[in-house]
Amino acid sequence: MSLLPPQITKTIEEFSKLPGIGPKSAERLTFHLLRSSKASPEGLGKALGELKVALEYCKTCQMVCLQEECSICSDSSRDHSMILVVENPLDVVAFENTSYKGVYHVLHGVLSPIDGMGPEQLKLKELIDRCQSGVSEVIVATNPDIEGEATASYIHDQLKDKVEAVTRLAHGLPMGADIEFADQVTLRQAVEGRRRI
Ligand code: ZN
Repeated sequence: MSLLPPQITKTIEEFSKLPGIGPKSAERLTFHLLRSSKASPEGLGKALGELKVALEYCKTCQMVCLQEECSICSDSSRDHSMILVVENPLDVVAFENTSYKGVYHVLHGVLSPIDGMGPEQLKLKELIDRCQSGVSEVIVATNPDIEGEATASYIHDQLKDKVEAVTRLAHGLPMGADIEFADQVTLRQAVEGRRRI
């Protein structure tokens, strides 16, 4: 029998189910919650208990929201002919800090056969349905990794005959980068994605 009281082993067990949290981290987090003056088990429990309550997915872009349609999709001042496709809701938050004024589509993942993620597991059908009319450009903003590239290529194949342009975000050097230390792939993509100044 475990030396630890059951509420502690149960909490460790629940933390261990989260991605990137192994048994040791789960133990550390649990005991941190018991000792910490800042992080309280009550506060965490309350937030988790309310996490899914009243949460909806926007019927148009699939962003998490509290209504049937999110505030971006229901904003008539935005350019609804331009859809920026992202992997996760947090990507929308990141682009909202830029001057982008089109709308979004959240896939809720990327194509990854190893993880059992095929086209049916993503919000791809909803994206294709949206592009039946009134959309001129789809900008694919999935991450520049193998899964992100495969997803971008799938979206291009599905939409190339439905919209005027399917584009991909430029890859290249981040602000503050040192060209001398950039890897070959990044440098090649930076040259390919060059533009007039
Ligand atoms: Zn929306």
